[in-house]
Amino acid sequence: MTRRVSIFGATGSIGQNTIDLIDRDPDGFEVVALTGGGNIAQLAADARRLNAQVAVTAHEDRLPELRDALAGSGVEAAAGEGALIEAAERPADWIMSAIVGAAGLPPGLAALKHGTTLALANKESLVTAGPLLMRTAAKHGATILPVDSEHSGVFQALVGENIADVERILITASGGAFRDWPLDKLADATPEQAATHPNWVMGQRITIDSATMFNKALELIETKEFFDVLPSQIEVLVHPESLIHALVGFRDGALMAHLGPPDMRHAIGYALHWPARGDVPVERLDLARIAQLTFRPPSEARWPALRLAREVMETGGLAGAAFNAAKEKALDAFIEKRIRFTAMAEIVDTVLTRLSSDPGLSSAQIDLDNVRQMDQLARVRAAEAIRENT
Ligand code: NAD
Ligand code: MG
Repeated sequence: MTRRVSIFGATGSIGQNTIDLIDRDPDGFEVVALTGGGNIAQLAADARRLNAQVAVTAHEDRLPELRDALAGSGVEAAAGEGALIEAAERPADWIMSAIVGAAGLPPGLAALKHGTTLALANKESLVTAGPLLMRTAAKHGATILPVDSEHSGVFQALVGENIADVERILITASGGAFRDWPLDKLADATPEQAATHPNWVMGQRITIDSATMFNKALELIETKEFFDVLPSQIEVLVHPESLIHALVGFRDGALMAHLGPPDMRHAIGYALHWPARGDVPVERLDLARIAQLTFRPPSEARWPALRLAREVMETGGLAGAAFNAAKEKALDAFIEKRIRFTAMAEIVDTVLTRLSSDPGLSSAQIDLDNVRQMDQLARVRAAEAIRENT
């Protein structure tokens, strides 16, 4: 049976891995929409090869270029935020949400409102608006499938289980680029150094977020929102080999672990074929050759982002939206070399502290308008904190 699929963030790391799987089974899928940002050549080439209905660039000013690149192909060209929503509303059986950052939320919500199955790589949507996303999916009978490797691992370990029997969820972290650096050197780490990952090949932003552990901080919140467990039930475990992605501990003491090579096609493929399993061309682990797996507790001094995530989960409400927005601004400033590596967590901490006097932070209704307002406010506060820091 042919399935209609759309890929949001098709030109990115997750998007390209998704396309790799679809390319291997051209008769299995009919591509509805592909979306991207500034990489028009990639977007147009994929849309032509996969014979998509529509290709959308997020940048309105790049529309003429996209039109030219698609001329004669029969693929429609569109641009801007409205076009992204329109593309998300087109009938599809499965949509990959792999835009990076808070920008992934509106198209994801639009897809859920049409009852579409949403493969969610865009963890920021759960962090900024988890209850809204889950509520929308329930209301419209839509399914959300986690694509983050840890959450896909937990999801798989929970097949046939009752969430009430879960005692704890452990998500693993490689520790990123600076896992073994002396602490006093961290302040001098450059964006180039932070953008190299020991095990995973990913987009620049998430790779730097792995070095600060802001990625794991987002994933703690993502776990709470998606699986509806208490913050105290979720642990982070540093596991330098990145072969165990997550573990679920049950009331009888059993621990179910999800293992696989660090290749996102595993989690993407699971979501693509769910509820069945399909062939996925990832390396098969040779555990006898690997011989040993190691673990250590996460250091608070090295990764203050983890403490911040715990505070955000405690506050609830719109704190996740504020946290993510402040993090995105701080990350921009670090990439632009305006602030130091260690200043990212300081800035997010400052923003959360300053916003904590706003009663709306914990108690406001979580709807798209409030999430957007808090996102904007946190970006303004982060810009102030960045100016004070430079
Ligand atoms: P990436 O930077 O490689 O790609 C991002 C995609 O989003 C690109 O197609 C880009 O054009 C598009 N985009 C960027 N800004 C946009 C905007 N404002 N509006 C519309 N489109 C925009 O990122 P990635 O590494 O593929 O990550 C995508 C998402 O998946 C992120 O939420 C990330 O946290 C999550 N994720 C990624 C990995 C990984 O291995 N790369 C693993 C787990 C989760
Ligand atoms: Mg992950």
